[in-house]
Amino acid sequence: MDTAVVWFRDDLRLSDNPTLANAVNTATEVIPVYVFDPRDRRETRYGVEKLAPHRARFRRESVLNLQESLQDCGGELLVREGKPETVIPDVARRFEADAVYAQTKPATEEVSVEYGVRDALPAAVSFHRRWTHTLYHINDLPTRYDRIDDTFTPWRKAVESHADVRDPLPAPKAVPTPAVDGIDVPTPSDEDIEQPDHDSRAVLRFEGGETAGKRRVREYFWDNDRLREYKETRNGLLGADYSSKFSAWLATGCLSPRWLHAEVQRYENERVSNEDTYWLVFELLWRDFFQFQFLKHGADFFAPTGIRDVHKEWKHDRKAFRQWADGETGIPFVDANMRELNRTGYMSNRGRQNVASFLTDALEVDWRWGAAYFEKQLVDYDVASNWGNWAYQAGVGNDSRDNHFNVLSQGEYYDDDAAYVTTWLPELSELPAEYAHRPWRMSAEEQATHSVELGSDYPRPMLDIETRYDELG
Ligand SMILES: Cc1cc2nc3c(=O)[nH]c(=O)nc-3n(C[C@H](O)[C@H](O)[C@H](O)COP(=O)(O)OP(=O)(O)OC[C@H]3O[C@@H](n4cnc5c(N)ncnc54)[C@H](O)[C@@H]3O)c2cc1C
Repeated sequence: MDTAVVWFRDDLRLSDNPTLANAVNTATEVIPVYVFDPRDRRETRYGVEKLAPHRARFRRESVLNLQESLQDCGGELLVREGKPETVIPDVARRFEADAVYAQTKPATEEVSVEYGVRDALPAAVSFHRRWTHTLYHINDLPTRYDRIDDTFTPWRKAVESHADVRDPLPAPKAVPTPAVDGIDVPTPSDEDIEQPDHDSRAVLRFEGGETAGKRRVREYFWDNDRLREYKETRNGLLGADYSSKFSAWLATGCLSPRWLHAEVQRYENERVSNEDTYWLVFELLWRDFFQFQFLKHGADFFAPTGIRDVHKEWKHDRKAFRQWADGETGIPFVDANMRELNRTGYMSNRGRQNVASFLTDALEVDWRWGAAYFEKQLVDYDVASNWGNWAYQAGVGNDSRDNHFNVLSQGEYYDDDAAYVTTWLPELSELPAEYAHRPWRMSAEEQATHSVELGSDYPRPMLDIETRYDELG
């Protein structure tokens, strides 16, 4: 084959990238392309924009890093703005390509764009898609994806007993891109991408790109030696190292889960192998589970009734939703988490479970509004991980037991000294921990003593949450 186009999507890396590796091994010349799609910036039907600056910045950095890495291999990355259904066939025609190689992903919009590209290619151009973003390859599952269990544990056990993780592929040494002189190679446009200031309270400065992703793995595994206690610390709330923080690099495909798995094995051989080291792989299996569930259930994951056809009366209360989204509910553990998300694009797993439960159980607001808000804000947004976890939390997804989180006792347990809530709500920093989690219990005199006036310095609670949890049981 003479010429192949490689359409990069959520696989912005050279290491263990079968799409790129297959094209390089098959074609004499390779044209790598990335397309910024303006539809990613529109407002969704839930009244929330799709993309906030944190993730936009991360992706832009990831694309630039990919461009630099390709240049180091003698290649180039064409960066275009437009609909891939138009851009990719144009590039294929312009370079008289024989084939297009691309990553395939399971969610509905991604699939419809993929089909749109394939259908718009000239008849002589073949289309090759590759499944590249999970730990276990789809063809290695012991049960076909459309018949897999909807419950995590039996699915995980079957996969662990009957499938192997494939070895990661090495990065290509050379990517032979033809001369692109005279062809516009724009860098990703800066317009529309506000640069959010870095907040010094952020757990990490998430820098996009494979280089930064591998650096983070080196720090977390090797320099700081934290994998040995991952399971113990993963429910933390403050600081860089209570959990891996790999999610944003995994979501954009800057890191491959198989490459990460090989690093865990190397750590287990060279340092220690224990329940904590296994647990990181266990969490990657959760990630895989939602990817395969999306392939199985498709658009049902976006229905109010979810994948189990559960009918609940969801409220469409814009005011309550805005208070939640802005971190102005008057419930400190919820507000601290939402303010962290808004300022940094990240929130811990513990935080995500609690704010999701607060919105869907305590306020009974439509869970899809919450999922759409996370889609906008999260630096690590991934369609299957996000909508899958939201559906789960709302009681309409996988494994659902109708258990709500009591955000008050959760806050008091995981943030017993109130260090987390006072980091994000400095207006409460003079309060004893008990009041920092339940400021409404202060009398007027106590408010004066601690210089916190409810309704002025910090909101009064939007509902009587203690009574609400008594009702929920
Ligand atoms: C309501 C809600 C929404 C979420 N939305 C997303 C999302 O859009 N993108 C996303 O990557 N994760 C999402 N998660 C899962 C999880 O919260 C994050 O993956 C995790 O907090 C990221 O931090 P970390 O990389 O330090 O995780 P670690 O604890 O270090 O975990 C290692 C990796 O395992 C994977 N992982 C861990 N927990 C989960 C999980 N429950 N589901 C799927 N994968 C998991 C992630 O890739 C993560 O990077 C969501 C969870 C909830 C409850």
